[in-house]
Amino acid sequence: MTARILLVEDDPALQSILTAATSFGGFESESVRTGLEALKAFERGGFDAVLMDLGLPDMDGGEVLAALRKTSDIPILVVSGRGSERDKIQALDLGADDFVAKPFLPGELLARIRAALRRHRRQGSGSDESDSASADGDRQPVRLGKLTLDPLRRSAEAEGKEVSLNDTEYKVLALLARERGSIVSRSALLEALYGDNPPKESRIVDVYISNIRKKLAGLPGGEELIGTYRGRGWMIRRT
Ligand code: CA
Repeated sequence: MTARILLVEDDPALQSILTAATSFGGFESESVRTGLEALKAFERGGFDAVLMDLGLPDMDGGEVLAALRKTSDIPILVVSGRGSERDKIQALDLGADDFVAKPFLPGELLARIRAALRRHRRQGSGSDESDSASADGDRQPVRLGKLTLDPLRRSAEAEGKEVSLNDTEYKVLALLARERGSIVSRSALLEALYGDNPPKESRIVDVYISNIRKKLAGLPGGEELIGTYRGRGWMIRRT
């Protein structure tokens, strides 16, 4: 089935480039120019991924991103000229799955879209057994001390409190859980998430870990769960 992508970009020239690139990649797309149009289109539904600019004429792109993320876990890729470290981290903090800096090569953009869709599909429901060896291939809840990770709901729960994680956050946490007691390196996490097409920004992993920590901090036993081992990686502390 052809994946359908919502393109959120106010610059007409870039909008045509995105439309042409996605069409060349075999995707269907719908273009909108403003944050409000993006929210409305999203509400109608039917999209498999979002490509969005952060500099929108009517609303802060970050707010639009956060609003989309609240109601859906489909891949959201930020395509932005604001390429500073801070902007990237902010976008990821708000729930973006990936960050593509302008100017981008259409081929790279398409590869990132395909990778994001693959990750999402693997984590979704269905009977895809091709990835059964990976952490998210296991559909059974995982116990971590007081916490229970639920792979189907992508949530962590403890003593009746629950937090939801996005696809990537869940995957990172599940990997750490599977390797509990051992330190998992940044490069191992990057490889597990992106295969042989990792983003240039390897600190993306640190952002995911930080997001997971923030979320888990709301749960009994969650705050100290992930230990940082400087220069070596992260580990689930024995619980
Ligand atoms: Ca713009």
